Amino acid sequence: MGRKLLADPELAEQARRKRPARDPPCIYCHVCVTRSFLNRHIACAVNPSTGREAQDALIGPAERRKRVVVVGGGPAGLEAARVAAQPGHR
Ligand code: SF4
Repeated sequence: MGRKLLADPELAEQARRKRPARDPPCIYCHVCVTRSFLNRHIACAVNPSTGREAQDALIGPAERRKRVVVVGGGPAGLEAARVAAQPGHR
């Protein structure tokens, strides 16, 4: 459960509400475990917000919403789109 919560912190709340789990949950890659053995900052391969929750919470609504073009649909592009959408950009 510990690793699954790193990958999806809302897992317990979803279970409480009896909603099906979202994909992708933890993929058991052990990046988080390996980093902890090396005394490195906690991180998760599928949840870029893990260990950076306070920074993400500081992102407020944009003063002016913009249209953002993300070129590429890989992990970096998806994360760029997610972060751009947080303050309300399209
Ligand atoms: S880093 Fe890998 S093993 Fe650790 S919680 Fe994330 S997906 Fe799971």
